[in-house]
Formats: sequence, C-alpha cells, structure tokens
Amino acid sequence: MSAAPMTASAAGLMGCHACGMVVRKRHAKPGQSLRCPRCEAPVHARKPDSLQRTTALLFTAAVLYIPANLFPIMTVISFGQGQADTILSGVIHLAHGGMISLALLVFFASVLVPVLKLSGLTFLLLSVHLRWQWRPRDRTLLYRIIESVGRWSMIDIFMISILVALVKLGNVATIETGLGATCFGAVVVITMFASMSFDPRLIWDVMEEEE
Ligand SMILES: [Zn+2]
Repeated sequence: MSAAPMTASAAGLMGCHACGMVVRKRHAKPGQSLRCPRCEAPVHARKPDSLQRTTALLFTAAVLYIPANLFPIMTVISFGQGQADTILSGVIHLAHGGMISLALLVFFASVLVPVLKLSGLTFLLLSVHLRWQWRPRDRTLLYRIIESVGRWSMIDIFMISILVALVKLGNVATIETGLGATCFGAVVVITMFASMSFDPRLIWDVMEEEE
C-alpha cells in the first residue's frame, strides 16, 4: 500500500473506550495503567488480551454447540405423550408440516448463523495469529458482518419462550424447554462476547508493522 495515512497510535495517541476522549500515551506514569483524565476509565491502545480471550470464548462456544444440537431444545407434551425435538429435527418437523418459511428462518438463525459466526471468528483469529497480509479490508468487513448478524441467533430462544408461554395457557398440551435450549442460549451469548473481545485493529497492525 502506498501513502498510508498516519495512525493515531504512531502519533502516540489512544482513544478512551468509554467516553471517546483522545489521550496521549506519555501521560501514563510508570508501573501504572493509563486512565482517562476525563472519565477515569482505563485506556488501552488495543483491547487487552484480545487474542487469548477471543480464543478461550470461541473454544467454549464451539464445545457447547455440540450438546446444543444433540439434546432436545423443547418437548411438546400433549395427551400424555411427549415429543422431543432437537434444533434440526424441529426444522424437519416444521418443513413436513408445511411451514417452509418458518423452517427456513429457524434453520438460518439456529444453524447457519452460529456456524458461520464461529467459523468466521476462528478464521479472523487464525489470520491475526499467523500474521496474514491477505485482504485486510475484506477481513474487517467480515468482522462487521459477524458483529451485526449475531443477535439474530436469539430468535430461536425467543420463539421457544413465546411458545412455552402460549401453550401453558391451554390444558391440552404443554411445552418444556430442554437442555439443548440452555446450551444454545449459552453458545449465542458466549459467541457475542467472543466477537466483542476481538479487536479488528489487530488485522491492520500486522499490515503497518510490515511497511
Ligand atoms: Zn474517558
């Protein structure tokens, strides 16, 4: 890249994460962490331990994604007979019942989005670990997509909670949430924390160091 703009970091400046104030690095006293002079929040040039934290959270989410798919997310009990559904069997039941659009929505929100989010974050982590120079702009775009799309995974938990509340009102059938739902909720929340703890500026640090 030619004529790269000067970065704040190269000028000895950092931004406060809490109030946005620009702080000079040299204001830090030795042996003390730098605090924002305006709001007293700790100021870091980069999110602290970004790679380690994101790796640990991602690993936890990936492990929990297994029971989230193996155990039923809900059991519908009607006339004394129980029907347990995992995420995938629920999608298949919806499709067989003619609710194709709902089946697609659940598949998109509960299978496609979490898998793409986990693999996308793993890809970004690897690219920073291995100091790739490949397409930093597209990788930053990938991070932005992951950040914005993640909240939609909660649709599933949302639907179950509405179903449980609705069906509890009747006497004929009851719905109970299963272990799979708990694991799935944990996967969604932990993946959100993982993408929050990843610092996309690390992608660009590698590029600037090589120049
Ligand atoms: Zn501040």
